[in-house]
Amino acid sequence: MHATPLENNLPWQAGLVTARRRLEKAVLTIVGGNGLLPYPCYRTVPDISTSMDKTYKKSPMDFTEGGNLARKKSEMAGVMSSSIMPQPRMSISWLTVLNREVIACTRCPRLVLYREEVAREKRRAYRDCEYWGKPVPGFGDPEARVLVLGLAPGAHGSNRTGRPFTGDSSGKFMFPVLHETGFANHPTATDRDDGLRLSDLYITAAARCAPPDNKPLPQELANCSEFLDRELDGLRRVKVVVALGKIGFEAYLNYLKRRGMRISRKIYMFKHGASYATPDGKVLLASYHPSNQNTQTGKLTRGMFVEIFKEAARIADK
Ligand code: SF4
Repeated sequence: MHATPLENNLPWQAGLVTARRRLEKAVLTIVGGNGLLPYPCYRTVPDISTSMDKTYKKSPMDFTEGGNLARKKSEMAGVMSSSIMPQPRMSISWLTVLNREVIACTRCPRLVLYREEVAREKRRAYRDCEYWGKPVPGFGDPEARVLVLGLAPGAHGSNRTGRPFTGDSSGKFMFPVLHETGFANHPTATDRDDGLRLSDLYITAAARCAPPDNKPLPQELANCSEFLDRELDGLRRVKVVVALGKIGFEAYLNYLKRRGMRISRKIYMFKHGASYATPDGKVLLASYHPSNQNTQTGKLTRGMFVEIFKEAARIADK
């Protein structure tokens, strides 16, 4: 065996060569044959839990994306461990952008006045609460196959809490049903820090600001339709739209019309339990709205509502 030129040098130099070879061998043992460190020493694997929680716990907008937080965390962890390259943060940034715009919107002067006045004056039962008092963005799983399309925030419900159907009687009726049918991780929705997560379901509304008497004006619905359009376009996995009440039902038909689809009002009639194949390849499922007016009069019972979400799940699974 021939010595290398370096090895022919002085004994102390040969010692250096040996030390270098030992080091190289150690590196190759650790990282494999290509000699590339899988994680450069200057790079620390991010604390996914911390960064995600920071991202998802600050505002209702963040809760929107946190609907599937556990899954997103594990996906992110998988991505991080499979590559040394920084990964794009999430494929749902369009929703973050949209929700920021929603929260900042002041397009409807009447609703801006109303939502802020309610937030200032408060209901006596909530006088110690800090009201949200802004437009309320959607909430849930961005990969959902079931979309719930409601009317608008309640003045002392989501206008107070900042999350749809949270802290009001409609939510008290709806979330136990969503839990029973497998779409929610627990049956209550009290505030934005209650740990509620939705799976395979996303909730949005035709109007994002609380209207007086729960009645948005046609112009206000038109103003808000841009947000709805972008949300519906972006939630690409949706297969079933559960319209809560006639206004939610009409809002979806109007969306289809704005997207250039022909809709005959003679065919699409609002009736609780009715379902229609729509030209965009989805199913529109009509339900009475879970408002006090409907639930306290027995027009909408818990059993009827459970059937709606069982049917939605069945259609989504087809
Ligand atoms: S209802 Fe919609 S368009 Fe009108 S102010 Fe609220 S967020 Fe803006």
